[in-house]
Amino acid sequence: MTRIRIHNGRVIDPGQRRDEIVDVVFVDGVVDGYVSPEQDGKFDRVVDATGLVVAPGFVDLHSHLREPGFEDKETIATGTMAAVAGGFTTVCCMPNTNPTLDTAQDIEYVYAAARRASRARVLPLGTVTQGEQGKTLSDAFEMAAAGAVGFSDDGRPVWDGLMMLYALTNSLRHTRPIVNHCEEPTIADGGVMNEGRVSDLLGLKGQPAAAEEVMVARDIELARETGGRLHLAHISTRGSVELLRMAKRDGLAVTAEVTPHHLTLTEDWVLGAPQREGNGRSRGTSYAYDTRAKVNPPLRREEDRLALIAALAEGLIDVIATDHAPHRSIDKECTFDEAAFGITGFETALGSLLTLVREGSISLSDLVARLTLDPCRIFTLPYGGLQVGMAADLVIFDPDATWLVDASTFYSRGKNTPLDGQPLQGLVRYTVVDGEIVFDRAAQ
Ligand SMILES: [Zn+2]
Repeated sequence: MTRIRIHNGRVIDPGQRRDEIVDVVFVDGVVDGYVSPEQDGKFDRVVDATGLVVAPGFVDLHSHLREPGFEDKETIATGTMAAVAGGFTTVCCMPNTNPTLDTAQDIEYVYAAARRASRARVLPLGTVTQGEQGKTLSDAFEMAAAGAVGFSDDGRPVWDGLMMLYALTNSLRHTRPIVNHCEEPTIADGGVMNEGRVSDLLGLKGQPAAAEEVMVARDIELARETGGRLHLAHISTRGSVELLRMAKRDGLAVTAEVTPHHLTLTEDWVLGAPQREGNGRSRGTSYAYDTRAKVNPPLRREEDRLALIAALAEGLIDVIATDHAPHRSIDKECTFDEAAFGITGFETALGSLLTLVREGSISLSDLVARLTLDPCRIFTLPYGGLQVGMAADLVIFDPDATWLVDASTFYSRGKNTPLDGQPLQGLVRYTVVDGEIVFDRAAQ
């Protein structure tokens, strides 16, 4: 029997409405109880969490681990190491690998590779259509039986409306959500950033907000028609927020996620990081544009960002998901048009998001809920809380520690972040999965 005590931390567990200084005890990988910091006892290990926040491990519904097929961008081993360094104990990974995850065997491959890596829990999604080609439905029932937690052609939209209608209809029986990357391709039409002031300035082809909103509206109407389970991936515009509001008001089974980068960055970052006075590390002016800020959906306007934050705080947007999208350096060291879409996200998520708490946009407890309790509710996962008897998956972080992002030190193979060189406040100290300390920053 292994008894571990997390001592004197501020325990925030939204599922229990708990926010207090208390000690958490777990035994053999399971939360065993709470004791006062003054109370004595015998433990195999005591972790001093004085001045730190102790929360359920973060659960990410949207990440790209790139394996199989793109191991030069990321592997399940490096991706899950990056995940636990960012405080994520469960990560759901998208099926746009090579081959795509189309069958029960493909789903089992991911589970086996994750077991070998033995860091974060990994829960794969399967494709909606075979090869993400949009032509033939994949066998969702077979993949659900093998443990697929949802279905998505992410990276691409399910552009064929009839395919989406069938997929949503099937979701009534397998009960997993259909996660759509909302982009109407004939409107997006190859745009590489948000269409607006900055795309005009740089002479880059933009994709208008309508490219996303038309697809969000179509999917909501298909969810209404079928009663199926729809989860909107990474929504990014004020118009999408209003459509989501309508869907929820009408009682549809529709949920949505937003990324840390859409909550904290705008299209201006395509011009480079804002210059900060007296800081020579800022690289803002050395680029005409910064390919590391190329992401899909694109970074939007400030008014979109503010609408996303407000919707997150009120719980209209259900969860934060990273859309962790690692790429090789060579995929970004090229022209903006040629560069790959995506930002590596696990290791900067917490530091970015705590900005919203410090500026008073959302409470720390609500932020934790959007990273733990709420994602588990949407994907029906038995994690995301620290109630007695639950798996001891937790993160211990210092909300005040200030650090400079240095992408070269990331555990992820992907160094592609526009935040490189920027200061962030908030750093993970320990991450625990199933009662095992899988990340200890001081020991790395
Ligand atoms: Zn996507």
